[in-house]
Amino acid sequence: MLDQTAIDALRHETVGDQGHFCDGKSVASKSGETLDVISPIDGKRFANLAAGTPEDMDEAVASARRAFEDGRWSKAAPSHRKKVLLRLADLIERDALKLAVLGIRDNGTEINMAYKAEALSAAATFRYYAEAIDKVYGQIAPTAENVLGLVHHAPVGVVGAIVPWNFPLMIGAWKIAPALAAGNSLVLKPAESASLSLLKVAELASEAGLPDGVFNVVTGAGAVVGEALALSMEVDVLVFTGSGATGRRLLNYAAASNLKRCYLELGGKSPNIVFSDAPDLAQAAKVSAAGIFRNSGQVCVAGSRLLVQEDILDDFVAEICLHAEAFRVGDPLDLNTQIGAVHSLPQLEADLQFVVTAESEGAERRTGGSRILQETGGYYMQPTVMTNVKPTDTIAQQEVFGPVLAVTAFQDEADAIRIANSTQYGLAAGVWTANLSRAHRMISEIRSGVIHVNTYGGSDLTVPLGGVKQSGNGHDKSLHALDKYVDMKTAWIQL
Ligand code: NAD
Repeated sequence: MLDQTAIDALRHETVGDQGHFCDGKSVASKSGETLDVISPIDGKRFANLAAGTPEDMDEAVASARRAFEDGRWSKAAPSHRKKVLLRLADLIERDALKLAVLGIRDNGTEINMAYKAEALSAAATFRYYAEAIDKVYGQIAPTAENVLGLVHHAPVGVVGAIVPWNFPLMIGAWKIAPALAAGNSLVLKPAESASLSLLKVAELASEAGLPDGVFNVVTGAGAVVGEALALSMEVDVLVFTGSGATGRRLLNYAAASNLKRCYLELGGKSPNIVFSDAPDLAQAAKVSAAGIFRNSGQVCVAGSRLLVQEDILDDFVAEICLHAEAFRVGDPLDLNTQIGAVHSLPQLEADLQFVVTAESEGAERRTGGSRILQETGGYYMQPTVMTNVKPTDTIAQQEVFGPVLAVTAFQDEADAIRIANSTQYGLAAGVWTANLSRAHRMISEIRSGVIHVNTYGGSDLTVPLGGVKQSGNGHDKSLHALDKYVDMKTAWIQL
């Protein structure tokens, strides 16, 4: 049970200057330069981050390479690796509140969500992949009697991971945990505006007994240290979550360097489709509102396009607006808050601009659309519902990554499918219908990596998350994620 007094005791804790975490210790940037860490809660600087240079990144990659080659982790007994990662999960759980509050000061996610979806979920992820270490086997191929065909899974070597500012612990753990479980070394580049909690996780990994050099973190600008990581000849696999624009660059960097494998988890413009035969329209409205507005819409799978069947449009939109207006937006460290801050001022300004653009293209602002709580100095925006949105409008095509819902009416199933599939993205979708056959048809016709039926946004660690089309090619979570971190190696033995 979260306790407001405990949260308040942490909210102003001094953070101090943060170095990179390299070779088991905190080190300053070679340039001596730092980046300000601004809290979206009040717009004030509360920490400094090492502004990494390409040389810092090269040093971290070299440390990871040394650690991999000498086998201090890659060749450690699986039972030992499992013990260390389980200990790490325990330590994350021990410090869950501290990690959650630190992360919130960085990125503005509200505490109830951050505690569970960030800190506790990261602990659960480390536990899940730790448990997999001694349960996932290679294979023996069904060859002729005089031959033995073996399929091994060998660690790839050095993994580079680049992660975004929304849910850094959760998404970070989705990559760090399977990479380490598979026996690799890792260099992590967190987002400039959400590095603090991940730096702490690296320290906790050391405390848990992870050998020096196996898990390094280099902070700083994406275009500097992220690029250096992606261009490194010593990185074997690059895993990324972030925007399509950056994903595109990473593929170029891989092509320009060592053709490293790149797994990209990118953005979305996910359609949430409500048929008039949905089993419970009131529930559909409630869940759909949460499915776009939670975490101020800064969720990759957010149901940001609401497609509603024409005959229920007015009533359904009215219901959605009631939910939107009822959300308590404010201080993310207040337990009563339901929606925290937008993560940065540029993001808030971009969100507001999308509303202006939508209106200029003929959409109607039904509720929200403004910055609020400006007196706090923080970055807060009303949940916003835009109606009369055409499928070709900017707001229906581009990812806002803010609390803005675009509503479009459809006539029938074929119309819904056509509109749903009419963007470059294919991350998530939702379908609300009581018709089982229709639900199955939608599952097969909607081009998305994830589809929810009669709910929106639910998931757990056992199911993979990834997109199709320009939402990317990688999958996090589940045992399938381990495939990214191993090389399949076969042996053909003449008996
Ligand atoms: P972003 O692409 O701007 O940044 C992501 C990371 O890439 C950051 O660490 C950044 O520093 C780094 N980066 C930026 N430029 C770089 C470069 N030139 N070379 C190497 N690294 C570079 O994305 P963001 O704004 O941090 O995150 C939001 C995006 O992430 C949204 O599009 C969202 O949909 C997506 N996202 C996707 C998923 C998913 O699972 N598919 C999950 C969460 C977020």
